[in-house]
Amino acid sequence: MSKILSVNAGSSSLKYQLYETPEFDVLASGQIERIGKEDAIVTITTNGDKHKKTVSVLDHQAAVATALEDILKYSEIESLDEIVGVGHRIVHGGEIFSESVKTTDKVVQDVEDLSQLAPLHNPANLTGYYEFKKALKSAEHVFVFDTAFHQTMEAKAFMYPLPYSYYEKYHVRKYGMHGTSHKYVANRTAELLGKNPKDVNIIVCHLGNGASLSAVKAGKVIDTSMGFTPLSGVMMGTRTGDVDPAVFPYLLEQTGLDPQELIDVYNKESGMLGVSDISNDARDIEEATEAGVPRAILTSEMYAYRIANFIGSYLIQLGRVDAIAFTAGIGEYDKGVRRRIIEIVSEALGIVFDYELNAKVRGVEVELSKPNSKTKVFIVPTDEELVIAQDTQRILGI
Ligand code: ADP
Repeated sequence: MSKILSVNAGSSSLKYQLYETPEFDVLASGQIERIGKEDAIVTITTNGDKHKKTVSVLDHQAAVATALEDILKYSEIESLDEIVGVGHRIVHGGEIFSESVKTTDKVVQDVEDLSQLAPLHNPANLTGYYEFKKALKSAEHVFVFDTAFHQTMEAKAFMYPLPYSYYEKYHVRKYGMHGTSHKYVANRTAELLGKNPKDVNIIVCHLGNGASLSAVKAGKVIDTSMGFTPLSGVMMGTRTGDVDPAVFPYLLEQTGLDPQELIDVYNKESGMLGVSDISNDARDIEEATEAGVPRAILTSEMYAYRIANFIGSYLIQLGRVDAIAFTAGIGEYDKGVRRRIIEIVSEALGIVFDYELNAKVRGVEVELSKPNSKTKVFIVPTDEELVIAQDTQRILGI
């Protein structure tokens, strides 16, 4: 039995889960939000008991110290030396990493260098790593990359039709995100189909605040909707997804905003929030849609329409789709979103959908299609923290 910590360090938050092998029982699950503030929110859940406090957590070093103190205080662990492996979520692995890896000086340097492709994420992820490395002397560390699973894409799928030299000089190409989730959900869906991942074609719809789709053929991603950044692809909670790129300079001119301000609008004030003027939370949009609010209805229709277009294009590339899997907050919980998407794609995919069941279930692993459905539909709750811990165990051999 060994204890493994799964870590997701963002610029102002730290999330972690402490597991015990071999069953990967969760011993503690916590998060620290608003790092850098006097009133950071610190929570830890152990054995179903949630402890919450508001304290000053001024930097990542303090956040890691707080997390480890809480782990010692509330979980059944005698000494921090018991934590032998730490898995870190790293957003960008570029073209270097197509698998999770044990950290070495070279690996850490490569991730530092990749910060230019993910300036908001990689530095924060690395800060988490440095602090845990200092605090947990006897642990080994593994990096798990959001981009890794998508590295199987062929050049015809990942290249943009820009001058080739931009790819060579500036590394501009499609990378994709949420890879850990896509991998877990695709493999789990193959299991639910009773098939080897090598024998099935699956479309994964990861619909959370950020959202991306992937087309997985024989266990390999052939295409995904996010690109060079997480801004592209489908419409999201506050992000635009794909928009004609020439709109950007036009809007700079029209609005008088500077490029950083306008890209902030694309990232933080668009998507469901921007179109509806109601909320970025799918629950609010669903409620307003059901109440007949016209802009909420438009938002819901656009959201489904844009996802359905990706599903259609993936159907063409895959040739045959064995299953569609819905995951993440919206995919797992929002019956209205799932229904509207399936209504659009069901005829082309030969889906016989169980609408009654869809309306009843939330957040559980379940098949939503009927036995005679050509393409099956599932909800597969994602568990990125668990995949990070499992990769850590496998790679460290602990
Ligand atoms: P993140 O991308 O931040 O990890 P999540 O996967 O947790 O996001 O998804 C968060 C989103 O899921 C919320 O913004 C909300 O829109 C949606 N969501 C969560 N619960 C429900 C629910 N019960 N009904 C509809 N949507 C939900």
